[in-house]
Amino acid sequence: MRRKLAAGNWKMNGLSAELDQIDALTAKHADSAIDLLICPPATLIAAAAARMSPHAMMIGGQDCHSEPSGAFTGDISAAMLADAGAGAVILGHSERREQHEESDEMIRAKALAAHQSGLITVICVGESLAQRDAANTLDIIGAQLAASVPNNATAENLVIAYEPIWAIGTGKVPTLDQIGEVHDFIRARLEHRFGADTGHSIRLLYGGSVKPGNAADIFTVTNVDGALVGGASLKAADFSPIIEALETAAS
Ligand code: PEP
Repeated sequence: MRRKLAAGNWKMNGLSAELDQIDALTAKHADSAIDLLICPPATLIAAAAARMSPHAMMIGGQDCHSEPSGAFTGDISAAMLADAGAGAVILGHSERREQHEESDEMIRAKALAAHQSGLITVICVGESLAQRDAANTLDIIGAQLAASVPNNATAENLVIAYEPIWAIGTGKVPTLDQIGEVHDFIRARLEHRFGADTGHSIRLLYGGSVKPGNAADIFTVTNVDGALVGGASLKAADFSPIIEALETAAS
């Protein structure tokens, strides 16, 4: 049985005053039957983790470097994230793949470093609209999975987030059939590569314009074990109904 996971990606949003949003979520969803993860900007990780009651919610990073330390101005290592109190890290978000030209090989190296530091990796895959229109979605996802997921992945240290690039921050959402097709494909690929047990147990999140109004429907799709949420994770009032929809799906 895969435990559901609601993950929030704050991107480059949030000053210390916004830590109140995390407090509001943990107060409302204490003892939740699902896992909660918030990935605030790196500047807030230590403060967010410090005020977290044990097991209430995991705090994560949005990226890490593949090296443990060194002359990499502006970067942050997996060990630093863990040291600040993070338990997870998002890797290969399409904004990093596009804006920072991150390759699958770089993402795999980062994932290895993250696993070495004891972090759960949420590795993002997803197609552009042009790739979908050209009927290349599954080929793209398959190639990203093969090259960006390291061989040491387990059900404990890996989560995959399917995030169609054209759905991120746009209000456009794939049909439930389209989401289901990709999630079934990812599941089959993971089972083939890691064996039936591990492949079956790795959690798959959908991400891309998940909102309070569409979350419950998305969570009915087979092999959707939760969501990676951007915009709607910034305010507890928006994220909380999404969490509730996932709690209902888990019950
Ligand atoms: C994201 O950035 O991972 C994301 C899914 O964003 P949004 O929910 O705003 O589409």
